[in-house]
Amino acid sequence: MTSETPPRQHRRRKPKFGDTRQLFARLREALAAGTASLPDIAELLAQELPADACVIYVARPGEVLELAATYGLNVSAVGHTRLRLGEGIVGMVAASGDALNLPDAQNHPRYVYRAELGEEAFASTLAMPVKRAGRILGVIAMMSREARVFAPVEVEVVATVAMLLAEILARAGATNLSEEGFSARLPRRYAGHVLSSGIARGKILPYGASPPIAKLLTDDPAAELARLEKAVETANKSLDGLITSTLPGGSAPRDVLDAYRMVTQSAGWLTQVRQAIGDGLTAETAVDKVAQNLRERMRRIADPYLREKLADIEDMIGRLMVALGGMAPKPERAGGMILLVRRLGPADLLDWHARGIAGVAIEEASASGHAAILARALGLPALAVERGAVEAAQEGDDALLDAEGATLILRPEPEVLQVYDRALAARSVRAAALSAYRDLPAITRDGTAMSLMLNVGLALELDQLERTGADGIGLYRTEIAALAAGGIPDVAGQAAEYGRVMDRAGGRPVMFRTLDLGADKLLPGEASGGEENPAMGWRSLRVGLDRPAILRRQLRALLLGAQGRPLSVMFPMVATVEEFRAARDLLEAEAARIRPVPERLEAGTMLEVPALLFQLPGLLAEADFVSVGTNDLMQFLFAADRGTPELAERYDTLSSPVLEMLERLVAACNEAGVPLSVCGEAAGRPMDALVFAAMGVRTLSMSGNAILPVKALLVEADLNELRPVLRELRRSGAAGGSIREPLTAWAREHNLPV
Ligand code: PEP
Ligand code: MG
Repeated sequence: MTSETPPRQHRRRKPKFGDTRQLFARLREALAAGTASLPDIAELLAQELPADACVIYVARPGEVLELAATYGLNVSAVGHTRLRLGEGIVGMVAASGDALNLPDAQNHPRYVYRAELGEEAFASTLAMPVKRAGRILGVIAMMSREARVFAPVEVEVVATVAMLLAEILARAGATNLSEEGFSARLPRRYAGHVLSSGIARGKILPYGASPPIAKLLTDDPAAELARLEKAVETANKSLDGLITSTLPGGSAPRDVLDAYRMVTQSAGWLTQVRQAIGDGLTAETAVDKVAQNLRERMRRIADPYLREKLADIEDMIGRLMVALGGMAPKPERAGGMILLVRRLGPADLLDWHARGIAGVAIEEASASGHAAILARALGLPALAVERGAVEAAQEGDDALLDAEGATLILRPEPEVLQVYDRALAARSVRAAALSAYRDLPAITRDGTAMSLMLNVGLALELDQLERTGADGIGLYRTEIAALAAGGIPDVAGQAAEYGRVMDRAGGRPVMFRTLDLGADKLLPGEASGGEENPAMGWRSLRVGLDRPAILRRQLRALLLGAQGRPLSVMFPMVATVEEFRAARDLLEAEAARIRPVPERLEAGTMLEVPALLFQLPGLLAEADFVSVGTNDLMQFLFAADRGTPELAERYDTLSSPVLEMLERLVAACNEAGVPLSVCGEAAGRPMDALVFAAMGVRTLSMSGNAILPVKALLVEADLNELRPVLRELRRSGAAGGSIREPLTAWAREHNLPV
């Protein structure tokens, strides 16, 4: 085929746009006059595009789409032709929310023939969902006799008209669905992963999806452009403010900020927004439209780097929408509500917690990420849910957050609510029963004394010491407060914090872990340095040793905060004995300068890097204690990123590689007389805790809500009875396989509370 003989579909009349302004102007007039009837719109669009026919379907109760207007097809079918959600091309578009652009629609496998329509003559179809605030209100479809793919510029125009149509339908109540579309009345379930267990019932509060826009079209693009530029300025200022206020001493890394700016300003998306305003859209409609395109692209991009760039733009869009008044800032109070968001950082989670939320569902989160750890620390039910929930939810819908069964239910049926109410009542009975264990010592039936400690990272969590009867703090994550504050306090500030923690612990032991920043725990403005694998990168103690000033300041603050009291310091991500020694030397060097000296100074190590397992004699000769961080150790042992939800339950702590590792570790620590604890999330799972105890671990450190369930199981269990069962299960089990299921069955048979 030569360039002089283009394919037939390209030889057609050229679309008439750039004169979309005229189309929008007519629509604006019709909207303002309240005379925008659906047949008029269908005709207008078919003429302007140009296309041979246009149909408009609207959503009706019962997941049905009804033909509401047409230009070019049999008008007598209006009000009669109905398609179920998912039926035919139009039904598919409504079900998926994605447009379809088909040159040969009638040969599409999902095509459904309806004789009354008279559409036999039309080959191609462009079907566009009519969405408002994420809900499908209908479908608009353009048809052409010619077999052709509708051009991108045509798709753009139909998408914009679909936005306007959504507004018209909602205002006219044309769908009889009270503005809200299909999903408004129907329950919706979203599967997920549990981040922090619990069940919450309340009204949903979606945050981050843009609400319907009040004014869609403008006859004064210049004024709208001016509004946009002002909003860009405000959004940039809020970004400056964020970075300078959260990093102490105004030490905002300009390069990071500038890089962010470059992405948000140069990617061409602002140009697209300006163009859309030029076409007659208001500033917020234009931003929203470009944002929708971006989200569509984001869903298809696999490359994490590019996704990150688009996420930056999305963040900027959020700021712009707030600045334009198109998106509400956070509500002051959100008492009892279930927050539903796309992403959530630890600082934001604290902020929402202060506003009184009862639970949170996050579309992009994983169980070992910091929002999850914080949620567990706060005892806040939290779930990572599949995408789409934020768009589908309407503020104020009833919701059930089942962060045990791993489901978020929007608009649950009354019967489902009753089931949950009963479960919640049973739960409070169980909570009352568990509280009876609070003051009991954690001693198993065979007389083994266990020490159950808390993992905490914030002063507000210290109440849990009394609430749970914990024996102390087995892991104080010092970086959490820094993350929550958005920066590392100075020495005096840190010393005050550590002193307060010791005061509140009142003589109970506290293991302070030095800053474990990097990978998933980045301070605002801190870049991951473009590492391909930041979890295995320059993070944590590695940074501390290479840039010792920050670590030394922290060690000084710990010593000052202790004011002569016994002090235990634990180093994270140690990979070699030399690293441990270098860190301990820094601690001792600081200790030599500070008075009063601590009554006892202990330096211990986290065991998170598998290489340490092969250096045990050397390590145990130098470390005062060892604490196994199963979160990181599991990810390195199995080469399975702890932040990837798809891998969340793939490898089990109760499988032979882990149990064998633990067996050897316990033996080595016992021989060397070095105390061993487990402080990863596994220590807080009752079944895992029981197995660890049977294998000789005596100290377990976990989040507050795990202490009583773990204690309840331990005090009812006889480890001497359990050990032969364990041995047999390990002997007979598949290599690498998990013993969890048969062991749980055994525990149930023996009436143990698992
Ligand atoms: C761990 O890795 O198991 C651990 C306790 O540390 P963190 O979860 O803070 O990385
Ligand atoms: Mg860790």
